[in-house]
Amino acid sequence: MFKYMALILPIIFSINTLAKDVVVYTSRKEHLIKDIFKQYTKETGINVSYKTGKAAALIQSIKAEGDKSPADIFMTVDAGNLWFAGKEGLLESISSKELKQNIPFNLRDEKGRWFGLSVRARTIAYNPEKVKEGELTTYEGLADSKWKGRLCLRTSKKVYNQSLVAMLISELGAKKAKEVVKGWVKNTVEIFPNDTAVLKAVAAGQCDVGIVNTYYFGRLKKKSPELSLKLFWPNQNNSYGVHVNVSGAGVLKTSDNKKAAKKLLEWLASRNAQESFAQVNMEYPINSRYPESEITKSWGSFKPNKSFNLSSAGKLQKDAIKLMREVDYK
Ligand code: FE
Repeated sequence: MFKYMALILPIIFSINTLAKDVVVYTSRKEHLIKDIFKQYTKETGINVSYKTGKAAALIQSIKAEGDKSPADIFMTVDAGNLWFAGKEGLLESISSKELKQNIPFNLRDEKGRWFGLSVRARTIAYNPEKVKEGELTTYEGLADSKWKGRLCLRTSKKVYNQSLVAMLISELGAKKAKEVVKGWVKNTVEIFPNDTAVLKAVAAGQCDVGIVNTYYFGRLKKKSPELSLKLFWPNQNNSYGVHVNVSGAGVLKTSDNKKAAKKLLEWLASRNAQESFAQVNMEYPINSRYPESEITKSWGSFKPNKSFNLSSAGKLQKDAIKLMREVDYK
């Protein structure tokens, strides 16, 4: 009997003291998160397991699994997606001094349901062989008839463009925003399914300018440095600045490991983790006081939009979709 007790007791003891895994459901690609979670485990001894998939499919899984869901954190890209998860009632309001301190107000949910963890800019890419110095000015400027037959856009179905148009509505008012997007559509040569296709069309001379997320530019340039492509930072002078968005995450209401989930989010937003987390996808750190990578630095500095609270990207999403439909932006 004692012999068996001696065998069993240490097992029971170790189960009790072992911290539970934190489980993350994420639409981020595995190679962008794997190492950062490993680093967390190394520093804290807490394991992070994850499931990857499309944001909408993961939200469906979380709903279907209900209270039995193993997920503790939902992590995705674009405030529009994060806002949607919050609106569906999936995210717990988290109060954290550290998260508030590290993440600027406009890059997190006002109710603490989600937090930005890395920043990407949605800006103008151009072909320097086709575009003259001084021609580019603002997002609004691309609606001018001088860009007719020179603009390439990504589909309006993508949340990135819905959030961009939401920003225009917020900054310019619905009427002016509609005129701008209508002008874009008039000037557009072709609508593409993704940002990389837009960039390739600009480099190939099919059009002269496009609107893309910065990390797609970084990835393509890394692969093909010879491509005739540059980034331009619009709306810098007497204007609202470059449209920025985030990748981010929130703690799930159905999590039975909320304390540990919050700890992981706090760590991800910390200076120490940000260097790897933001840089692995050529993104900007969530806090501009943290160092950025040499690659993003080489694209030049810019004034980001700080007046547009990313929560509004969600709140205005419906209006943005409607506006784009009305001007026949496919
Ligand atoms: Fe993306």
